[in-house]
Amino acid sequence: MLDAAVKIISILKDAGHDAYLAGGCVRDRLLGIEPKDFDVATSATPTQLGEIFRNTQLVGEAFGVVLVRLMNCHIEVATFRTEWGYTDGRRPDGVSFTDAEHDAQRRDFTINGLFEDPIEHQIIDYVGGQDDLKAGIIRAIGDPDKRFNEDYLRLLRAIRFAARLGFEIELKTARAIRNHARYLGQISRERIGIEIDWMFGPTVKPSQKSLAAELIQELHLDGPVLNEDHLITPIPTLAGLPDDPDVDTPTCLAAWMLDRHARHGVELLVFLGRPFDRTVTQWRNALALSNEQRDALVHTLKVTARIMQWDELDVAGKKRLLASARWTQGHLLFEAMKEVQLVPVIADELKKQVPALLDEGVNPEPWVTGGDLIKFGLKPGPQFGDWLDQAYDAQLDGTVCDRQQALDWLKTKVLSNPSDDDG
Ligand code: ATP
Ligand code: MG
Repeated sequence: MLDAAVKIISILKDAGHDAYLAGGCVRDRLLGIEPKDFDVATSATPTQLGEIFRNTQLVGEAFGVVLVRLMNCHIEVATFRTEWGYTDGRRPDGVSFTDAEHDAQRRDFTINGLFEDPIEHQIIDYVGGQDDLKAGIIRAIGDPDKRFNEDYLRLLRAIRFAARLGFEIELKTARAIRNHARYLGQISRERIGIEIDWMFGPTVKPSQKSLAAELIQELHLDGPVLNEDHLITPIPTLAGLPDDPDVDTPTCLAAWMLDRHARHGVELLVFLGRPFDRTVTQWRNALALSNEQRDALVHTLKVTARIMQWDELDVAGKKRLLASARWTQGHLLFEAMKEVQLVPVIADELKKQVPALLDEGVNPEPWVTGGDLIKFGLKPGPQFGDWLDQAYDAQLDGTVCDRQQALDWLKTKVLSNPSDDDG
């Protein structure tokens, strides 16, 4: 991809235009991080780009961005532009083409305002981005209040970059974020959700996730992000989640939810003991979570709640829990809840029992099926499910040891009490 971008730049320069790598990719290259994508900025207009390159596609006509296809890559090539208007706090009312310096000035943070000429090996810095990159500082370009007022998404972008890079947010920039936090709700919930997903996804390091949550709370963005009252809480559970690919965004949200709403033993039991529908629904709407993410969040909390009641589960119940879809995440969440006094006892039991249960197998093929019940001479009906559940429990807890025993056991049970449908 870098090769394609460099080739595009060299073609543009040969045609007499200015052209640079721009923005995030320059920042990442200077930090020694592999950039997600490579963007090119140029003095050539979209019309000129269409004449120079054979395979182009206008992606944002109003913004002067052209997708150039070269060497099997798609590279965004944007004409230097300045933006104006921003009456809705989301997007500019208009853009006009300009030079590199003004293009740098319309970008959000100094570390994102750099250009690189990869052919001359030169960095072009109109905004002091290199110094801030060296010092580890996120600083708005120009007047922070004005810049956040133009586009409220920048409030969350600042947090994301600070968390990802472990950078400090410069004082005036931080103050401006807090002052504008309440307007974040003007951004679409989907875009807020995407930013949060980028902060909490499985590839993000635990320290970066904690920093993101702390900054969001500290800078008063938690209210508008999560659609609830502002609250600064410690986040031991979120911070306690391990660096593990199974820890996904819903797991982090579940942890943060417990930290914010149910951190102490008693609160936690009450929170997990009742359906946590209201908070989940609120967060679901706030972050535009997909049904899949919402279910993952709910099931992670439910698994954790069941683990809290581990002593009360019989062997079959324990095996069913171990076989459930979000066991891994619920278990990791449980382990992360270091502050809850009731946990150590259960944690010891889990450590002893879980490997043995897994050894025995927690989701074997059922020995008895509906077909067997029909062979007993029974008519399919709603009680079939209950009988099969009971037979499966007997299989899981070792009451029966093979298919024949399972059939005999169920036959006795069913035929001695054929209308028994609730155990
Ligand atoms: P990432 O690593 O997440 O891709 P990035 O900095 O490359 O980070 P992009 O969204 O890819 O972010 O945008 C590329 C560049 O465009 C940014 O580096 C920045 O210069 C500019 N930019 C993007 N979004 C905004 C915004 N909302 N306001 C101002 N400038 C922006
Ligand atoms: Mg990028």
